[in-house]
Amino acid sequence: MQYPEPIARLIDSFSRLPGIGPKTAARLAFYVLRMKEDDVIDFAKALVSVKRNLHYCSVCCNITDVDPCRVCQDKARDRSVICVVQESKDVVAMERTKEFQGQYHVLQGAISPMEGVGPEEIRIAELLKRLSDEQVQELILATNPNIEGEATAMYLSRLVKPFGIRVTRIAHGLPVGGDLEYADEVTLSRALEGRRELG
Ligand SMILES: [Zn+2]
Repeated sequence: MQYPEPIARLIDSFSRLPGIGPKTAARLAFYVLRMKEDDVIDFAKALVSVKRNLHYCSVCCNITDVDPCRVCQDKARDRSVICVVQESKDVVAMERTKEFQGQYHVLQGAISPMEGVGPEEIRIAELLKRLSDEQVQELILATNPNIEGEATAMYLSRLVKPFGIRVTRIAHGLPVGGDLEYADEVTLSRALEGRRELG
């Protein structure tokens, strides 16, 4: 037996999401069918809104609904320090620590030769432009403590050497192989405090 077209279409949409197999997709689709209509409309609106109303900040490449983003606009923040992270989620994790008062740069990924992601595929050119234009004194490399994150940090530290700015890497103590976003606030604060200079 085939599902009626509307439910088949919804199952197909759910199954395109990461980590969702056909069984889960069917379960979610039937769950939506039982939801209140208002809740379904809110859900559909949230999906559309995330595409229509979010853009990348023209300065730090973070996702934002205003350009430049609120962090880049904030005059109270220290413009001499840029913390480089892989994803927007990592900015949220860093902000939760309430420890960091500088600027961010979101790479939107990490260098991964295995997956064919080279330096041109992530927002490195935008970072270099900032280093030429702004008065940056320190670059904190807060990419993830896994192979891709380390490779990206090494690549960046060599690349920015000619700029003569201080380049630091957040300390270990973060779960190796893990993502920054899963580190608790205390661990992340310590990793930030214990950052060391890269040669
Ligand atoms: Zn920004």
